[in-house]
Amino acid sequence: RAKAQGRRRYVLFDASMHEEATHALKLENELRIAIDRNQFEVYYQPILCSKEGKPAAIEALVRWRHPTDGLVMPGRFIELATEIGFIKEIDWYVLNRACYQLAEWRQNHPELADLSVTVNLASQHFSQSNLPEQIANVLEVTGLPANALRVEITEHALLDDQEMVQTVLSQLSELGVQLLMDDFGTGYSSLSYLHRFPINGVKIDRSFITNMRGQEEHMAIVKTVKALADNLKLKLVAEGIEDQETQDLLIEMGCDYLQGFHIQRPVNRRVTLEWLLENSRD
Ligand code: C2E
Ligand code: MG
Ligand code: MG
Ligand code: MG
Repeated sequence: RAKAQGRRRYVLFDASMHEEATHALKLENELRIAIDRNQFEVYYQPILCSKEGKPAAIEALVRWRHPTDGLVMPGRFIELATEIGFIKEIDWYVLNRACYQLAEWRQNHPELADLSVTVNLASQHFSQSNLPEQIANVLEVTGLPANALRVEITEHALLDDQEMVQTVLSQLSELGVQLLMDDFGTGYSSLSYLHRFPINGVKIDRSFITNMRGQEEHMAIVKTVKALADNLKLKLVAEGIEDQETQDLLIEMGCDYLQGFHIQRPVNRRVTLEWLLENSRD
């Protein structure tokens, strides 16, 4: 009887598994084609310096221009791309494009000469000993100075081969590249990571920022992270700002950098440049 039941359960399980596997396989094939045919685009979202109220950086965010589905957001493909090992290729494409683009803008527009670019790198990169060398190479080829590049890493990256990650991050830091901890507060944070690794700043996760005014617990977390950042001499970035009141509160609290739909959504490079020029004037 148990066996029959087991088999029946197996059949049900199998049907949904099959559907999922078919979907994943289709997506995997499409992703392979997307890489071959360069279907990825880089969008940019500005980050304001709260003291000056002007753009200090732009975050590069990948989009997939799917031949039939239109613009596909990273939430729909980054996870699978990571699982099947495509993420590195996508990240290198984004890093190259973003460095090249910013170097060009800095050169051609004096008001953008001090702008930085922030790139998200999947955790797999940080256990590769040649990452600093490869990044140095991208900087050399694109002509972007190292201090204009910020790399966002998530806490997952710090869980792998800690000694290797330590070495890689130290070398990146020596190059002059800034390191930011993304989605801070959502991972398996051990606070000791923050001083063990050469991190320059933390980006508090947007889930705490977006509803911070309505939820005391979120406000308490934001204040605690701010105090932590001050004590460890780290820059604090808030992402997910969706209204003026939240932005004002964060400025009052002394948060260093501000990012969110209220300031500007991620947009293509043409709209980004227009927005940057418009908002960088004295
Ligand atoms: P992230 O690095 O934490 O990026 C911030 C995400 O929050 C972006 O979503 C951005 O559009 C969104 N966001 C910014 N401000 C607001 C706001 O005020 N409200 C709301 N609701 N959302 C806001 P996006 O572009 O869909 O990217 C999602 C995630 O995908 C990123 O989170 C990052 O983890 C990953 N990702 C994006 N591009 C890349 C890439 O080139 N490489 C890698 N490895 N991951 C990437
Ligand atoms: Mg990010
Ligand atoms: Mg984030
Ligand atoms: Mg993230």
